Amino acid sequence: MSGKSNHSSLNSKIEKLDMSMKELVVFFRSKCSVCGHQRIAHDEHGKCEGVMNKPCSSGCDSFILE
Ligand SMILES: [Zn+2]
Ligand SMILES: [Zn+2]
Repeated sequence: MSGKSNHSSLNSKIEKLDMSMKELVVFFRSKCSVCGHQRIAHDEHGKCEGVMNKPCSSGCDSFILE
């Protein structure tokens, strides 16, 4: 996660998606019905890592859309 080149390649990937940035933001902000945290707090396997340096107390390991 360093350098501008990473960001610009990410941007170009996002531009290729059939999805706007707004839709992506809505997607990542959708809440988990297991622990109540946003999808963005969960890792790629669905495990919740908590927010603001606080670990998730529910032990959620699978994101389920509310
Ligand atoms: Zn959580
Ligand atoms: Zn969760």
